[in-house]
Amino acid sequence: MKKFDKPIYITRPLLPDRTAVNKLFDEIWQSQWLTNQGQKHNKLEMDLQEILDVPYLSLFNNGTIALLVAIKALDLTGEVITTPFTFPATTHALEWNNINPVFCDIDENTLTIDPKKIEQLITPKTTGILGVHVYGMPCHVDLIQNIANQNELKVIYDGAHAFNSEINGIGIGNYGDITMYSFHATKLFHTIEGGALATKIAETKTRIDLMKNFGIQNEEEILITGINGKMNEFQAAVGLANLDLLNKERVKRKKILKQYLDNLKDVPGVDPFIIPENIEHSYQYFMIRVKEEYGKSRDELHRSLKEYNVFTRKYFFPLISNLPPYKHLESADPENLQVANKIVEEVLCLPFYGGLDLMEIDDICDLIKEIRES
Ligand SMILES: *Cc1c(COP(=O)(O)O)cnc(C)c1O
Repeated sequence: MKKFDKPIYITRPLLPDRTAVNKLFDEIWQSQWLTNQGQKHNKLEMDLQEILDVPYLSLFNNGTIALLVAIKALDLTGEVITTPFTFPATTHALEWNNINPVFCDIDENTLTIDPKKIEQLITPKTTGILGVHVYGMPCHVDLIQNIANQNELKVIYDGAHAFNSEINGIGIGNYGDITMYSFHATKLFHTIEGGALATKIAETKTRIDLMKNFGIQNEEEILITGINGKMNEFQAAVGLANLDLLNKERVKRKKILKQYLDNLKDVPGVDPFIIPENIEHSYQYFMIRVKEEYGKSRDELHRSLKEYNVFTRKYFFPLISNLPPYKHLESADPENLQVANKIVEEVLCLPFYGGLDLMEIDDICDLIKEIRES
C-alpha cells in the first residue's frame, strides 16, 4: 500500500491572494477604523445576507458567541431540547446561559434531531428546541416548526456546517427563529474566526445587534446586558477576499465528492453520507459510515489511514451526552439515545478540500479498499 509522502489533512483553509488582502488592509489603515461596524464589516454583512438568502444577518467575532447571543436574544430559560450529535459548542452555549440541555435522539437517516422523539421530552420548563444541521444536512424543519408552534417554543438552528445549504432553493437561515453560522478557519467560508446570526424578524435583528455591542444604544443609553460579539475589520477583510474564492472552491469540492462516491460505491460496509437531491450541499464535510460488513471497525480504519499519512476525523465523536459535564443528566442515558450512540461509532470524515487532486482521492479510496482486505 502506498504511503503519502506528505500528511493529508481533513481540511485546509481557504487562503486568499495576498495582494487582494493587502489592498483591503491598506484601506483599513487609511480609514484608521479597526472595528465597531466598520466599512468592511458592513459590506460583508450585506454581501453575506444576499449570498445566504436571508432577511437579516448580523456578523459576530465567532460562532459560539453568536449562539450564546441567539439563546439570550430569544429569552430562553429552563430546558432546551437538543441533539447530542454535534460539536461541543452547541451544548456549551446552553449551559453558559444556565439552561439545562435535554438530549433527544437523532434520526438514523439525516443524523439530525428526531422530531418523533421531541414531544415526549417537553416539560413545563421547556422553552426551545436547538437543532443542528449536521454536515450541512438540514433538520426536519417543518415538523420541528409544527411542534414548536403547538407548544409555544422557540427554534434555534446551529448552521455552522450549513453555509449556503438550501431546501428546495430556500436558504437554510430562513427556518426557525434564529440560525447561527460559523466562519471559523476550518469551515468552507471563513473570516479566520467569525460567525453570524440570521433571522426573519426585524426586532430580533435589532436586539441581536444591541446585545453584541454591550447593549449600547448610543453614548448615553445602555439598554440591556450585552456582550462583545463584534467582528473586526481584519476578519471582515479576509472574509471579503475569501468570497471571491468561494465558487471555485465549491466546484472543486463537488468534483472531489463525485470522485469519492464513484470510488467507494462498491466497497462493502462503507456507506457515504448522501445529501438528498432537493438539498443544496454545503460541501463542508465528506463523511462515511463504517459498518460491520467492512470487517474492521471505524477506529481501526482511522488508525490505519494515519499510518499512511491520511488524517481523518471521527466527527462527531465523542457524543456530547457522554462527556463529563453532561453524562449525569437524565436525558443523557444511552438507553434513550440508542441511534446517536450507534452512529457515533461509525462516522469518519475523510479529507475534503479544493486543494486535493482527484488522483489523491483515488489513492485514499484504494487505501480504504486495501485496509479492508489486509
Ligand atoms: C464550528 C462549530 C461551532 C463553533 O463555531 P466557532 O465559530 O468555532 O465558535 C459550533 N457548532 C458546530 C456544529 C460547529 O461545527
